[in-house]
Amino acid sequence: MTLPPLSPDAALFLDFDGCLVDIAPRPDAVRVTGALRDRLARLHDRQGGAVALISGRDVADLRGHLPDFPGVVAGSHGSELSLRAGHVQTLHHAEFDAAALHADLRALAAPHPALLVEEKPHGGALHYRAAPELEPEVRRIMQDLAARNPHLMLQPAKMALELRPAGVGKDSALAHLMTLEPFHGRLPVFAGDDTTDEPAMAEAQSRGGMAIKIGEGATAAAHRLPDPAALALWLDRSLT
Ligand SMILES: [Mg+2]
Repeated sequence: MTLPPLSPDAALFLDFDGCLVDIAPRPDAVRVTGALRDRLARLHDRQGGAVALISGRDVADLRGHLPDFPGVVAGSHGSELSLRAGHVQTLHHAEFDAAALHADLRALAAPHPALLVEEKPHGGALHYRAAPELEPEVRRIMQDLAARNPHLMLQPAKMALELRPAGVGKDSALAHLMTLEPFHGRLPVFAGDDTTDEPAMAEAQSRGGMAIKIGEGATAAAHRLPDPAALALWLDRSLT
């Protein structure tokens, strides 16, 4: 199906890693260009402020990569919402000891120096990109931690497994934002690259909007673009 241009009346929801930026060897090594910062600022203006980034990263991390982004950021898979720089609220009610989870994660991963532990305020991730053969071990570790933390759920990601709060997701973040101005009453457009994006893609389409899958893999999205560069091109064409 041919991808129509982005309507200025749409509410635009964008994933970050693998969608706006190429996946990096380590999460902190992503490259944010001036062109991307400029594109996001212009989109924010054109869509009347109805542009939100919805990411698995926590809000502070994502805002750190995009310090001048004027729009909304939903972080930690929909667990956190930041309506503007300096603002953040929690959208889930799971109480848990993040420091204890992070300590368990570090201890279980310690025998495997190739694994990367990512500590998040609402969970944690174990990356095996540097050692794909450790995938079964990572699965064993994370399933063990999930069993010990029933308020968390196991979230597969690209070359990583993550624990995040149960009962929230990118779809619930999108649905919540659609109740707020300036998103309310617009048709949602969601672009993402990973399995964590699929519920939000289905949510956007169920509301009469549009979903765009970036890259390969099974998807509920009716549209597909090959990589972040192709998404950037489509967004830039919509801006001209
Ligand atoms: Mg992504």
